[in-house]
Amino acid sequence: MMETGTRCLKCQRALKPVEIGATKKFINRGAKEYYCLSCLADEFHVSEELLLQKIEYFKKQGCTLF
Ligand SMILES: [Zn+2]
Repeated sequence: MMETGTRCLKCQRALKPVEIGATKKFINRGAKEYYCLSCLADEFHVSEELLLQKIEYFKKQGCTLF
């Protein structure tokens, strides 16, 4: 699921695969437009740190998005 050249819809920053996974997980599994972690954190009024912790948690649960 490596999608090279994908950029954040909001700030145009180049996205890492984990950020694409995070958009799918936190916003919509069928998302076609993605956000970087900073913009996701803004959107949900939480810290990037918290999102990263959640991502780690989902990875441990065996989530296929990450
Ligand atoms: Zn962004």
